[in-house]
Amino acid sequence: MQDKLMLMIPGPTPVPERVLLAMARHPIGHRSGEFSKILEEVMAGLKWLHQTQNEICILCASGTGAMEAGIINFLSPGDKVLVGNNGKFGDRWAKLSRAFGLDVEEITAEWGKALNPEEFREKLEADKEKKIKAVIVTHSETSTGVLNDLETINKHVKAHGEALIIVDAVTSLGAVNVPVDEWGLDVVASGSQKGYMIPPGLGFVAVSEKAWKAYEKATLPKFYLDLGAYRKANAKNSTPFTPPVNLIFALKEALAMMKEEGLENIFARHKRLTQLTREGVKALGLPLFARDEDAALAITAVIPDRHDAETIRATMRKKFDIALAGGQDHLKGKIFRIGHLGFVSERDIHTVLAALRETLAELSS
Ligand SMILES: *Cc1c(COP(=O)(O)O)cnc(C)c1O
Repeated sequence: MQDKLMLMIPGPTPVPERVLLAMARHPIGHRSGEFSKILEEVMAGLKWLHQTQNEICILCASGTGAMEAGIINFLSPGDKVLVGNNGKFGDRWAKLSRAFGLDVEEITAEWGKALNPEEFREKLEADKEKKIKAVIVTHSETSTGVLNDLETINKHVKAHGEALIIVDAVTSLGAVNVPVDEWGLDVVASGSQKGYMIPPGLGFVAVSEKAWKAYEKATLPKFYLDLGAYRKANAKNSTPFTPPVNLIFALKEALAMMKEEGLENIFARHKRLTQLTREGVKALGLPLFARDEDAALAITAVIPDRHDAETIRATMRKKFDIALAGGQDHLKGKIFRIGHLGFVSERDIHTVLAALRETLAELSS
């Protein structure tokens, strides 16, 4: 049926009507007093969401642009970095770091398993000369539905003392607790089309004082993503370049909605949705890809058992107008993923589970 698509992928995620309506107006001048006021309000909201007093830079970029900004602003060619890699996005951090000439050492885990914080501890403790300049971790690994133990990994980084902790929080921010100041996270990257409940197009980077000190010495080339320019503009409630003005309207509305719900309630809802999804899928007899204790609270990856994941997805799409995500890279056809991040309720999960039951029955008949 037309206009009935239900997005149950990990991003873009569904956008509330209130947010869509906030976008449906003429853009205004980005140097106007009116826009400055909106930016000021948005900035306060972003700090609330990140639980931080750190500077937050708003970029016109997808999440990967925010990741790239998180590398090139704080490091120099040849710098040694430890990169956690247990999925598509951890792998992206490694590729990105290599593309900019960093000396990358990877800590890996099989896709579907969490990174082992002990391996980080060993490497960091062995680094007596403090050669490791950054530890780079994907908090919620969207490709497999695994949540890495950022809190413990970060404790080992803090014990090292020198290295920055650089985090991809794209599918954890707004789903699970990411207390940026309490944990002392130096660089936190996120993107608008995930937990923020707004369309794709904005990237965010939260930057600690320690990271700004590293910025002063970092020599990788940068221009559009030079966060120093964003910091300077932030001080005047402004932006260095033309921002996607209507997405900022959307962001303001989405942050207002999040505040009305409250952080604790948002985290509790994502936990409930995850449990509901996992129990429902198990009850249908399908194995889950990640263990309960490693489960990300934004995405559930499912092993389709006797069926082909792509056939399940195509049937769900055709019969029920429900979009599910497939497996990435070597997991294509081997798993499918249900996104339950952002503007998602219990009713949505019940709908997906009922449709999945019908789909499995049809494919088995
Ligand atoms: C979506 C996502 C990104 C960013 O992807 P873009 O397509 O560049 O927005 C980065 N990391 C994770 C974990 C993601 O889920």
